[in-house]
Amino acid sequence: MSISLELRGICRTYVKDNETFLAVDNVNLTVSPGEFLTFLGPSGCGKTTTLRLIAGFLEPTSGKVLLKGEDITGVPPYKRPVNTVFQKYALFPHLNVFNNIAFGLKLKYVPDGTYVDKKGVEYEKQRKLTKREIEEKVNAALKMVDLEDYGHRNVNSLSGGQQQRVAIARALVNEPEVLLLDEPLGALDLKMRKDMQMELKEMHQKLGITFVYVTHDQEEALTMSDTIVVMNKGKIQQIGRPEDIYNEPKNAFVADFI
Ligand code: ADP
Repeated sequence: MSISLELRGICRTYVKDNETFLAVDNVNLTVSPGEFLTFLGPSGCGKTTTLRLIAGFLEPTSGKVLLKGEDITGVPPYKRPVNTVFQKYALFPHLNVFNNIAFGLKLKYVPDGTYVDKKGVEYEKQRKLTKREIEEKVNAALKMVDLEDYGHRNVNSLSGGQQQRVAIARALVNEPEVLLLDEPLGALDLKMRKDMQMELKEMHQKLGITFVYVTHDQEEALTMSDTIVVMNKGKIQQIGRPEDIYNEPKNAFVADFI
């Protein structure tokens, strides 16, 4: 069986009130390609820290992060084929939808063959994306989130759900292998949240990429995930399919929390 993402003995400490504590405590996990995996647990259990360790915004105190078998621990976030969608979409209010999604692409360099200098040393060349390439990528991303006709719209004129879809398109435009979603629906009202749960699930099925999702909402995790990882105090309590977690909780914490 091939593996998309693997966490091997991941620990991360923080200092609080002059004491060091483990926010993430020996997390071991494999995620299959195309899986929808959710970290679920109460506030402060280490979900976001784990996600940030996968994204590379944080480095583990010990342990390794592997992507398709390759050790990416220490690789900076922008070099990881991983993108994050946050609860606060952080869209640029002065840019329209198209330019919000295009923003990162305009700064990006892509490989452009090689170059051999006088001494025969080979270098990799890089170039910026052309305007046409950017347009194609942005339009494809808009299509993925069903916002084809919204490119020219001001982001402030969109609903919360639509803004979150723009944020998802902005993450997808980089063609990540793994999409990380940190409580992406937390800022939406209940009705919108339910609709977006369905939309996200459909989007995941359509795209076929690996989703790693964080939520403290049991129902959300049970509805959307292929696999749930229940965490408490930095430790994994149980890994399983929603029905297994629900019907056969491994310990009192899981039973109580679910
Ligand atoms: P969750 O996402 O499950 O709510 P977090 O991963 O954000 O939990 O936090 C796990 C623990 O680490 C909490 O006790 C939190 O207070 C602590 N923590 C998170 N970030 C920091 C930080 N930058 N400095 C110190 N402690 C932190």
